[in-house]
Amino acid sequence: MRKLIVGNWKMNGLRQSSEDLVGGILAGLPAGADVGVVLCPPATLLAQVAEIVKESPVEVGAQDCHPDASGAHTGDIAAPMIADAGARYVIVGHSERRSDHGEGDALVRAKAEAAMASGLRPIVCIGETAEQRRAGEALSVIKHQLAGSLPALSQADSLVVAYEPVWAIGTGDTATPADVEEVHALIRTALRSGAGEAGNQVPILYGGSVKSSNASELLATADVDGALVGGASLKAEDFLGIITAAAALA
Ligand code: PEP
Repeated sequence: MRKLIVGNWKMNGLRQSSEDLVGGILAGLPAGADVGVVLCPPATLLAQVAEIVKESPVEVGAQDCHPDASGAHTGDIAAPMIADAGARYVIVGHSERRSDHGEGDALVRAKAEAAMASGLRPIVCIGETAEQRRAGEALSVIKHQLAGSLPALSQADSLVVAYEPVWAIGTGDTATPADVEEVHALIRTALRSGAGEAGNQVPILYGGSVKSSNASELLATADVDGALVGGASLKAEDFLGIITAAAALA
């Protein structure tokens, strides 16, 4: 499967810095690389980034959406608005949304279904905390989150799953390839049991302090189909290093 590298800018970026960053990424994209690249800027920059990348292979995603298509939800952004801004993906259930906004599995699933209904590909994030891993609960937490957060698998061809151990996000710590392999194998089994053969085609991304120095090893791990990248997606050189590592494995 073609590797998918997704940059999550989180709450970073103004129009000028965004133009510079996207320009740098486009200028440095390895020619002919068989890698999917998605940029997820804050909502204020979605339309701008979509405009800049429109003649390129780079696609755009949002960082969250509301489960409803419209209505009285001050400050929220609906999936049709995201699609209208030119995006094709949306991250749902990121651990920062789960912890900062108390989002649970049922809401994450509703958001993923809303995304699909608008023709977007949801990137559904799951992952255990450090405490849960220390207690030996990582696999059972992942199973529970999969059961609660994934949308109906009849549309598996538009789904992306991201395994992001909470303790590895923004900390510089990464899971070992063996731990990643174990969790990704469990996710693959769940996808296959829900969607049959189509479950093999759902990209499973790893996220958590991915950088150019560790990308090759992580991306070469079984069932790792790409990366969800936070900090290292904010500098063109760093992000391009990860894309180049993915291209080398294609
Ligand atoms: C993320 O925000 O999804 C993430 C993985 O962040 P970082 O790469 O900075 O750990």
